[in-house]
Amino acid sequence: MTRSWGYAAAKAKAPLAPFKFQRRDPGPGDVVIDIQYCGVCHSDIHQTRDEWGGAIFPMVPGHEIVGRVVHVGNAVKNFKPGDLAAVGCMVDSCRVCPSCKHNEEQFCETHTVFTYNCLDNNGAPAFGGYSNNIVVDQAFVLKISPKLPLAAASPLLCAGITTYSPMRHWKVQKGKKFGVVGLGGLGHMALKFGRAFGAHVVQFTTSPGKKEDALRLGADEVVLSTDTADMDRHINTFDFILDTVSADHDLNAYLSLLKRDATMTLVGIPEKPAAIPAGSLIAKRRSLAGSTIGGIAETQEMLDYCAEHGITSEIEIIPIQKINEAYERVLKNDVKYRFVIDMASLPMQ
Ligand SMILES: [Zn+2]
Ligand SMILES: [Zn+2]
Repeated sequence: MTRSWGYAAAKAKAPLAPFKFQRRDPGPGDVVIDIQYCGVCHSDIHQTRDEWGGAIFPMVPGHEIVGRVVHVGNAVKNFKPGDLAAVGCMVDSCRVCPSCKHNEEQFCETHTVFTYNCLDNNGAPAFGGYSNNIVVDQAFVLKISPKLPLAAASPLLCAGITTYSPMRHWKVQKGKKFGVVGLGGLGHMALKFGRAFGAHVVQFTTSPGKKEDALRLGADEVVLSTDTADMDRHINTFDFILDTVSADHDLNAYLSLLKRDATMTLVGIPEKPAAIPAGSLIAKRRSLAGSTIGGIAETQEMLDYCAEHGITSEIEIIPIQKINEAYERVLKNDVKYRFVIDMASLPMQ
């Protein structure tokens, strides 16, 4: 077995603490990565607190993983020891269903193996990236360009692909008016991609204090969503709106801003079900949609695009000993815009 050290939640809502565990011996198709940085995603908090139900403990969270390859099995083709490598939200899938065949493993119709809080295809629990190493099948390991600053690139593995994928799917590009709801880990990546794709980018926020940051990160305009007159000026004008907010909020105010046939897509998961009057959609044949992460091929495409265009996340680096404090700060939106754990701080004993 592969000896590993990390930080884990022993049970729901328990603070994260040092944890020693074992990963599988690397097989012929496996890549072993020495983890250097791991981003802190809001979903790590939901899952360690079992807010989505069915959580598996002890849980080592973390799915924004970057590091260096230290070992490859003899069937591994595209990686060798010393290469930079990354792992995102998934580490396996069935590989044969229509979604997998279509490079959309996140929608695997049998079983997507998520990086943690999930059983792998052999029934063993998967442990995530708040750890010194990880063993992953080569098909789910990504290449990361040395052009990208490694720590600031780690949030691309979840926050990056979660915004990039729907923006590509709904064709955010030059000549389109694109709205972003929420300015956090996801929202700030959507601003950067929106600007890079050449769209007219509008940030919606409830905090006037975020205006300067939004403009700097890629917004052409900032709309205060609590200001009805400001919102009304944009009725029927948007080609696409990406809603990144995971707190409960009213979707109808945004739906009315969509043009005929336009779409608003949700990537956050608020606790309460949304109430949508049919009229909000019928009026202009509007669509309300959802999206989650992206397939492995598209994640690689996104990482390559970011390397080419110099796109990374805005981060605050922390030692792993500060992880519980960081969770409290994420819950208060007190981070600009993503915490990244420096895994060199991890005690290995
Ligand atoms: Zn995530
Ligand atoms: Zn599948």
